[in-house]
Amino acid sequence: MTQTTVSRLVRTYQNALRLDEWEVALECVPLPQLGTDDKLGRIWPQFETMTATLEVATARPDEAVRSTILHEMLHLAVADVCRVVSLAKDELGPGTWNVLKESYEVAEERLVVRLTRAFGESV
Ligand SMILES: [Zn+2]
Repeated sequence: MTQTTVSRLVRTYQNALRLDEWEVALECVPLPQLGTDDKLGRIWPQFETMTATLEVATARPDEAVRSTILHEMLHLAVADVCRVVSLAKDELGPGTWNVLKESYEVAEERLVVRLTRAFGESV
């Protein structure tokens, strides 16, 4: 998939999810640069600047790339919730924080996967 097409898809999902307050920078990378943890995309929201960097592996079939972009944009859509959860970090001991963080991350991933499937069929 070309960078132009990827960029257009990012804007489409950003508009559909009403993430207008975010400035999303796109980095298309080959597969090996994304590491060995099976991640085909990543997004790093920075609330201080309301910017996010989206990294996506584009050397794959178009449908897989599209699904990854949607998945990562949905992570951006729920980033506010993650930020709220992170406020508890300083109030909890490391053990409790680690349990909460891990549980939250599993729940967020399951939600994003569910939304990707549902939303992906309608856009
Ligand atoms: Zn995910």
